Amino acid sequence: MNKKIAVIKGDGIGPEIVTEAMKVLDKVAEKFGHTFEYEQLLMGGCSIDVNGVPLTDETIAKAKAADAVLMGSIGGNTATSPWYKLPADKRPEAGLLGLRKALNLFANLRPAVLYSELKGACPLKEEIADRGFDMMIMRELTGGLYFGARKTEEVDGVVTATDTLTYNENEIRRIAIRAFDIAMKRRKKVTSVDKANVLDSSRLWRKVVEEVAKEYPEVSYEHMLVDNCAMQLVKDPAQFDVVLTENMFGDILSDEASMITGSIGMLASASLNDTKFGLYEPSGGSAPDIAGQNKANPIATILSAAMLLRYSFDMDKEADAVENAVNKALKDGYRTGDIMSEGMKKVSCSEMGDVIAANI
Ligand code: NAD
Repeated sequence: MNKKIAVIKGDGIGPEIVTEAMKVLDKVAEKFGHTFEYEQLLMGGCSIDVNGVPLTDETIAKAKAADAVLMGSIGGNTATSPWYKLPADKRPEAGLLGLRKALNLFANLRPAVLYSELKGACPLKEEIADRGFDMMIMRELTGGLYFGARKTEEVDGVVTATDTLTYNENEIRRIAIRAFDIAMKRRKKVTSVDKANVLDSSRLWRKVVEEVAKEYPEVSYEHMLVDNCAMQLVKDPAQFDVVLTENMFGDILSDEASMITGSIGMLASASLNDTKFGLYEPSGGSAPDIAGQNKANPIATILSAAMLLRYSFDMDKEADAVENAVNKALKDGYRTGDIMSEGMKKVSCSEMGDVIAANI
């Protein structure tokens, strides 16, 4: 197959980790007889430096014309970088929000997997870590509180701020369908998380998820209140397969799920629209503290590339090959600094990419 991948290397460690993911994709192409054409695009801080804005129409148009987007991460040190002296809508993160909106990427997938080789990094009790876990947090990305009308005003002489949380049934239905589709490729269980004991938007969420669930008799599903879910994630994470939730709950729960895996450098993510198109990026940020030192862990980006192969290109065996290559590298004891432990072989970002590419 011949596929076009738009590549946004971004800022900080972005260029280092994306280079390693491309190395692995090139090896997949060679091994499985595909051609991947890359088009490099600017977004985030590097776009501010060149274009004065974090996202240009040209980047949006070229991203849309590709079959998928592979991204590193954007942003700099929020305390010292001049990018953060700009108004909020001109900062690097505004570029990412704008791109997600322009590409209609409403479904964010974040797998949280505890690798048996990295169990030691899991902050949970040993008996919980021993059971392991492998869940997919599916977060609605373009609605809810972060996109609702907001204002700060004086009401009767008191400064008052208001944010609004709105969802319509179509927004809920399209992400619920995605979640059940993905559950069908996994262990066939969906936990839909809401706050239906308080919020109207959650009651509608629950009603629509129940309607969608009827179309998937093979998938078991349950509703869980968000406060309970936050507790269950640390008490018994093995119970979860696909966790479906709205934007803000998903923002918080996906970070909690990342934390219990022990390393941000291992966590992939995908943002999808209602076609095969998606944007794939590591869950972590641009790590300005280690940028340019060839120290970053490229595995999250390499696993994001595996998700790109699976969800945008329907290349399941190629995606399996990448995931197996990562597992083998870990089993063989290769570790970047962030996941290093005694007796293991410490490697740089580019060496980790070499090892994984060689395992394909
Ligand atoms: P961060 O994720 O960049 O870094 C947090 C810690 O994790 C740091 O110690 C860093 O060294 C480490 N880390 C992150 N990724 C790593 C990797 N691949 N390998 C090894 N260590 C890794 O979070 P932060 O410091 O809060 O944010 C830095 C910048 O990144 C900010 O400008 C923030 O806005 C931006 N950010 C961007 C995205 C994105 O591009 N989607 C996401 C989150 C944060």
